[in-house]
Amino acid sequence: MYPRAFRYERAKSLDHAIELLAKYKEDVRPLAGGMSLIPLAKLRLVSPQCIVDIGRLEELKGIKEQKDFLEIGALTTNTEILESSWLGEKFHLLLDTAKEIGDVQVRNRGTIGGNLAQADSSTDWPATMVALRAKLVSKGPRGEKVHEIDSFYSDQYTTALEADELLTHIRIPKPGSYSAGASHVKLERRKGDYAIGIVSAQLEVDGDGKVTSAGIGIGAVGITAVRGTKVEELLNGKKVDDAVLASVPGAARASLEGSDILSDIKAPAVYRLDVIGTLASRCVGEAYHMAVSRKSARSER
Ligand SMILES: Cc1cc2nc3c(=O)[nH]c(=O)nc-3n(C[C@H](O)[C@H](O)[C@H](O)COP(=O)(O)OP(=O)(O)OC[C@H]3O[C@@H](n4cnc5c(N)ncnc54)[C@H](O)[C@@H]3O)c2cc1C
Repeated sequence: MYPRAFRYERAKSLDHAIELLAKYKEDVRPLAGGMSLIPLAKLRLVSPQCIVDIGRLEELKGIKEQKDFLEIGALTTNTEILESSWLGEKFHLLLDTAKEIGDVQVRNRGTIGGNLAQADSSTDWPATMVALRAKLVSKGPRGEKVHEIDSFYSDQYTTALEADELLTHIRIPKPGSYSAGASHVKLERRKGDYAIGIVSAQLEVDGDGKVTSAGIGIGAVGITAVRGTKVEELLNGKKVDDAVLASVPGAARASLEGSDILSDIKAPAVYRLDVIGTLASRCVGEAYHMAVSRKSARSER
C-alpha cells in the first residue's frame, strides 16, 4: 500500500527542523532512518500531513566521550555504534545491543534516536538505556530538556517528547567502579521476529567481586521498558553465586508487579513472565562473569 499524500520538508539545521515541526505541530513526524516510520505510513497506521527529514543533520550524528558521560547523537546508526569498537572497554552494553538489532539493512539505516523515539517496548534500545541509567536530551521551541529514562515512556508508542520536539542526544554516565560487565539477551521465536523478552544488565563490582552498582532493564514484557528494581536490590553489595542467581527469576518477575503485561499472538502474558525470569538469570550471570574476569585481568597487570 502507498502512504497517504504528505508534504516533504528537508531540514537544513537543527533550528530549521524545530521551526518546521512547530509550523506543522498538529500533524507532523520527523524522519530519521525511516525503518519504522515508512512501513507505518505505508500501512496507513500513521498519516502525517508533513514529514520533516532530519537525516542530514550532522549536529545529531556521532559519539563523543565527555568528562562524566558518553554522548551519542540521536542520528547515530546501529552500524556506527557497532563499528566504534573502542566502546567495548567501558560501554560494552552498547555493542552487545547494537549487534542484536534486526538485519544489516535495519542496522545500517536505523538510528538509536529513532528507535528510542518510536517507544516500542519490544525493541532493544529502551531496555538497554534503562540498564545504563541514560538521560535523553531533547530540543524544541521552548529550549532544551533533559529526560531521565525512567520517566521518558508512559505507554506503548508514547514518550515525554512533544510533537515539536526532537530527541537530540543520549547521555550515558561513565561507570565509576573498579570493573564493569554487561550483557543483553533476548528471545525471539525466529531471528527477526519481535522479541518476547529482553533483559539488559550493566554490573559494576569492587576489588572483592561484590556488586557496587546494578542496572537492569526489562523489555518486551511490559508496555514500556521496566527497571528490574528487585533484581538490582538483590544484587547490590553481593557476590553473584549460584544461590543469588537462583533468586534472580523471582526478583525479575517481582519487578514487573503493577506493570501492564503484553499478551498477544506472539506470546501470552504468562509465557512472557516465565521467559523473563530465565533471561534475567542468564543475563546477570553473563554480566557478572565479564565484570569479575575483567577485575582479575586488571589485578594481574
Ligand atoms: C525488519 C525490521 C527488523 C527490526 N528488528 C529490530 C530489532 O531486532 N531490534 C530493535 O530494537 N528494533 C528492530 N527494528 C526496529 C528498528 O530498529 C527501528 O524501527 C528503528 O531503529 C527506528 O529508527 P529509525 O531511525 O529508522 O526511525 P524512523 O523510522 O525514521 O522514526 C521512528 C519514529 O521516531 C520518530 N523520530 C525519529 N527520530 C526522532 C528524533 N530524533 N526525535 C524525535 N522523534 C524521532 C519518527 O517521527 C517516528 O515516529 C526492526 C525494524 C525492521 C523494519
